[in-house]
Amino acid sequence: MIAAQLLAYYFTELKDDQNKKIDKYLYSMRFSDETLLDIMSRFRRELGNGLGHDTNPTATVKMLPTFVRSIPDGSEKGDFIALDLGGSSFRILRVKVSHEKKQTVQMESQVYETPEDIIHGSGTQLFDHVADCLGDFMDKQKIKDKKLPVGFTFSFPCAQTKLDEAVLLTWTKRFKASGVEGMDAVKLLNKAIKKRGDYDADIMAVVNDTVGTMMTCGFDDQRCEVGIIIGTGTNACYMEELRHIDLVEGDEGRMCINTEWGAFGDDGSLEDIRTEFDREIDRGSLNPGKQLFEKMVSGMYMGELVRLILVKMAKEGLLFEGRITPELLTKGKIETKHVSAIENKEGLTKSKEILTRLGVEPSQEDCVAVQHVCTIVSFRSANLIAATLGAILNRLKDNKGVPRLRTTVGIDGSLYKMHPQYARRLHKTVRRLVPDSDVRFLLSESGSSKGAAMVTAVAYRLADQTRQ
Ligand code: BGC
Ligand code: MG
Repeated sequence: MIAAQLLAYYFTELKDDQNKKIDKYLYSMRFSDETLLDIMSRFRRELGNGLGHDTNPTATVKMLPTFVRSIPDGSEKGDFIALDLGGSSFRILRVKVSHEKKQTVQMESQVYETPEDIIHGSGTQLFDHVADCLGDFMDKQKIKDKKLPVGFTFSFPCAQTKLDEAVLLTWTKRFKASGVEGMDAVKLLNKAIKKRGDYDADIMAVVNDTVGTMMTCGFDDQRCEVGIIIGTGTNACYMEELRHIDLVEGDEGRMCINTEWGAFGDDGSLEDIRTEFDREIDRGSLNPGKQLFEKMVSGMYMGELVRLILVKMAKEGLLFEGRITPELLTKGKIETKHVSAIENKEGLTKSKEILTRLGVEPSQEDCVAVQHVCTIVSFRSANLIAATLGAILNRLKDNKGVPRLRTTVGIDGSLYKMHPQYARRLHKTVRRLVPDSDVRFLLSESGSSKGAAMVTAVAYRLADQTRQ
């Protein structure tokens, strides 16, 4: 008994000691609330710049109008197809919205591969692939003879002048197919479908995944007016007053704005908080100099950030007795899902397992240390998102002119969903940074794709009204 207590005591001491050392080593990744509030006000300025007529052309955070003007009102119905391209997987769904006693949504979905050679090949190949998968899906659903309305979740920054047009501004994340930037994704997909000639589709709406998420949550909670993705990439949208959106005519009502907050910092405004690891991630990325905020926080980069830190620490003899293996030096060997596993309850065992696989023969101290590195990196991410979300919440509050904001935020994304502590930390920090708010966070399971169908359903209902 005493031996066990001693051991536990020794272990806690060891952990405290280790953690302190690492806190010190990675002090530039740990932010005080003061810094977070500063970042929040910087981002608040970006929001204004993106919305303003004169400032928009050079704004870093693009604040793209989406032409989505309302969340579902509950009267939508119909049979829809949703395509979801650009998240962690490519999915096609059939979404039936019906109206027995109450509105219900029924979904069937299938995941399709998007091989590397396709997302890095030509745009034609990419959209042919999408059209092939859609054909296969319609075959399986036995609806090839129908012309169902299609909603397309396309999770990249796009300029829209209407709901069914989306000109890709720039690829982000893992995508880099040639000849698509500057083109309308709807036209490209329609062309690919026509070329096949064996089915018809009516692409009624293109939405960003954040918009899809907000719409899906809006279906369950009318108060939802923000959508966030924290997955492979990160982004947010929210409902802005039309009178503040200089790029769109009209002063009445609201429109959803896709902020594209992943690009925050691309003009150098985050240089004081970026670390050597962030710079290295950027240099090795598909889009150097772009999406700098995204690279500090999202799932596509988090594992790699941890790996770069471990390499440096090992080189300095602070970990693994200085052992460096080819595996440890290989890009991508630590993934964000590993970070999640290491921060889980059984994290130390996981830490050992993952490090052993990298061949570094970790000691117990090493495992504890690596766990703490993961915590710092994922905590930084949650904190940064809390700051940018805080700016949006403050903006909503000012728009409404209320002393206290009551609102709902819809969230989707693999990192937010899979990481054991992420959601709790994010919620807590947001409540601290924006104390005069009551925010409900609503996880939207497959919200990003279902939402495209919801937008389509709304568009369909509105089109129906004009026909009558
Ligand atoms: C894209 C956004 C998208 C986000 C989340 C970013 O890289 O630019 O449009 O919403 O990833 O998928
Ligand atoms: Mg998604």
